[in-house]
Amino acid sequence: MSFIRTVLGDISPDNLGVCYAHEHIIIDPSYTTQLFPDFLLDDVQLAIQELRQFHTDGGRAMVDSMPCDSGRNVLKLAEISRETCVHILCPTGYHLKKYYPTGSWGTRLSATELAKVFIADIEDGIDRHDYGGPICERTQHKAGLIKIASGLNRLDDHELRLFEAAAITHLQTGAPILTHTEKGTAALEQIDVLGRHGVKPDRVVLSHTDRKPDPAYHKEILSTGVFVEYDAHFRWKDCDGNPTLDLVLSMAEAGHIDQIMLGMDAARRSYWKAYGGSPGLSYLLTEFSSNLREAGLSGHDLNRIFIENPARAYQFQA
Ligand SMILES: [Zn+2]
Repeated sequence: MSFIRTVLGDISPDNLGVCYAHEHIIIDPSYTTQLFPDFLLDDVQLAIQELRQFHTDGGRAMVDSMPCDSGRNVLKLAEISRETCVHILCPTGYHLKKYYPTGSWGTRLSATELAKVFIADIEDGIDRHDYGGPICERTQHKAGLIKIASGLNRLDDHELRLFEAAAITHLQTGAPILTHTEKGTAALEQIDVLGRHGVKPDRVVLSHTDRKPDPAYHKEILSTGVFVEYDAHFRWKDCDGNPTLDLVLSMAEAGHIDQIMLGMDAARRSYWKAYGGSPGLSYLLTEFSSNLREAGLSGHDLNRIFIENPARAYQFQA
């Protein structure tokens, strides 16, 4: 039986609904927010306000993307989900090294040890202290995916261990894998490394690949069978048109629409309306959906991008 693991429990993939594939709903005070104060998204009431608007605009689910010990707070995510009726998936995993103090546990443990940490999040529940230590108190809220990251152009030794750990975790639990690509690079190496450790491409979602909007590169990525998540749409400023929109159209044309998902990746207060920024989390359901329709995508195409693809990409499979 396949299912999707939300912070409030497991649901049928058929009940996921319109889903944003890479979000940041809560980022608590952490090393990450010390470095990047604009990343601080710690206010439950403001998140509820923004997600209520998302729900009014037709949104039903979001995949949070903050993994272990980087400002994740599963209790806050659970409260927001209960208050807004938006399904929320919370990851286990580990982010880029730069989001942790030097010598942090994620860079010291072996792949097998990391996998043990990740599997416990998925099967037993996420620590209310987010592995801030020294005490671990598991909540009833379990992780619904494995989030991992690699830096620019190639994977270093730590990242190779991390990707192996994700593969071990995936093979034991059936949890889907979501990766961060830095400026869209190293996508093919990520797929290759996970594949060598036994992960099938259709169990993997690569984020931010549209930051490198080269159609030939994307055809190569998508011909492997992975899913991709695009989120640069509202970020393009110094260019004509919208390269992300063009990429969606050309990849749809090339027969890959069943592998494309969209997200906001709005990890900054300045992107949220509730925090006084813009364009706000409803942007994809309002402005960008209109742009895609005007450019020729059908309602069915949009359903694939927002509903059918996330339901397949984020399900657990035995
Ligand atoms: Zn992100």
